[in-house]
Amino acid sequence: MPEVIVDHEKCTGCGTCVEVCPVGVFELQGDPPKSVPVKPEECLLCEACVSQCPEEAITVKE
Ligand code: SF4
Ligand code: SF4
Repeated sequence: MPEVIVDHEKCTGCGTCVEVCPVGVFELQGDPPKSVPVKPEECLLCEACVSQCPEEAITVKE
């Protein structure tokens, strides 16, 4: 199963990953909001989130 990891020390809650993920892996949760991978099993390993996160906060691996 794919692993999707968000470094909450880096995440600013900008929501870009929520917008770019084609399969809805991420949700913003909490206050202040942070990205949480709620459906990592859906990940296609496309790396759109990795390349577009402005904080380089996301890692994906098989
Ligand atoms: S794109 Fe990066 S900084 Fe923005 S919410 Fe997602 S993980 Fe956080
Ligand atoms: S690698 Fe692609 S499918 Fe996987 S969480 Fe990131 S944007 Fe979504």
